[in-house]
Amino acid sequence: MTTQVTDHRGGVWSIAVPIPDNPLGHTLVHLLETDRGPVLIDTGWDDPDSWDTLVAGVAACGFALTDIHGVLITHHHPDHHGLSAKVREASGAWIAMHAADTAVVRRTREAEPGRWLDYLIAKLTTAGAPDDHLAPLREARAKGSGRKLPGRRAALPDREIDPGELLDLPGRRVRAIWTPGHTPGHVCLHLEEDHPSGLPQGFGRLFSGDHLLPGITPHIGLYEDPDDDGGQATDPLGDYLDSLERIGRLAPAEVLPAHQHAFTDAEGRVRELIAHHEDRLAGLRALLREPRTPWQLAVAMEWNRPWEQIPYGSRNIAVSEAEAHLRRLVKQGYVEVVTGSDPVRYQAV
Ligand SMILES: [Zn+2]
Ligand SMILES: [Zn+2]
Repeated sequence: MTTQVTDHRGGVWSIAVPIPDNPLGHTLVHLLETDRGPVLIDTGWDDPDSWDTLVAGVAACGFALTDIHGVLITHHHPDHHGLSAKVREASGAWIAMHAADTAVVRRTREAEPGRWLDYLIAKLTTAGAPDDHLAPLREARAKGSGRKLPGRRAALPDREIDPGELLDLPGRRVRAIWTPGHTPGHVCLHLEEDHPSGLPQGFGRLFSGDHLLPGITPHIGLYEDPDDDGGQATDPLGDYLDSLERIGRLAPAEVLPAHQHAFTDAEGRVRELIAHHEDRLAGLRALLREPRTPWQLAVAMEWNRPWEQIPYGSRNIAVSEAEAHLRRLVKQGYVEVVTGSDPVRYQAV
C-alpha cells in the first residue's frame, strides 16, 4: 500500500484513497485543519485497502484518525461517502451532507429489497429497452434478489450542509455552494481564504467534488428516484449547467477536485464543459429528426466506445444520460413526445 498525500499548504492536504476495480483509480479525500481538529471532505470507498490508505494518509498529515472532528460530504456516491460510517465510529466525528442527498441515502436505506429492481425494470421498459436487456433483470426479480449494495449501508448524516452559509468550522471560512446535477444534493465547498501561493487570478480554493473535474465530464443522468413518475419533473442536466455557471462566476483561484488532480482556471474549464454539453445537445437534436425512444437514442449517441462494447450495467447508465439530455431538450422546446407512442418516442420540432 502506498500512501499518496499532497500538502496543498495552508492547512489543506489531499489523500488519494483507492477505488477498487475502477478506472477512476482513486478518490481525493481532502483534510482541512480547523481549531477544533481536522475535518475530512469526503471519505472514500468502503473497502479494507481504502480504509488502511485513509488511516495512513491522515497520519501522514500529522493527525490520528481519532482526531477527526467532522466529515463534509460533497455527494452521496459510494466513492465519496463509503467510509463515512467507519470514520464516525472510530472518531465520533459528525457527518454533514446536503438535505437532497441525505434524502437519497434515507430512501436507499429504507427501500425494501426489490424496490430498486422494480424501479429499474419499469424505467427501462418505458425507455424502450429490448427484451433481451430486460430478461436478466426480470429473472433476478422473480428469484427475489434485491440490489446488491456496495458494502455496508450508507451512513445517515448527523448534520445538514446549508448552502450559502459559512460552515461551523472554527478558524476557517468555508461556504457551501449547492451544485445539483451530478446528484440532487451535490455541494462544492469554497475555502474563502487567500491562496497560500498568492495566485493572482481568482479568490480562494474550491473543493469541487465530482462537479468540476479537470479531464472528465461527470455522469449526468436522471436522479435515481423511484418516486420520479417519468414525467418532466426534474431536469438534472439543466441543473448541472446552471451549477457550472455559478462556479464560473465564483472564479476560485484553484480547484481541488475529488478525482484526478488540482487545477487552476476554473472559468476556462466551466466554459469547456458548457460547450461540450451544447455540442452534445445539438448532436442529439439532429439524431432526433427521426423519432426515437430513449433507448434508441442512447444506442445512436456517441460514447467512449461502440455500443456493442458497452457492458450491461453501463448501458443502464447511458440510457439514464440520454434521458437527462431528452428532458433538457423538451424543457428548451426543441423536442416533443410523439403522441400516442408506446414506448414513448421523442422527435425534434
Ligand atoms: Zn459521483
Ligand atoms: Zn466520484
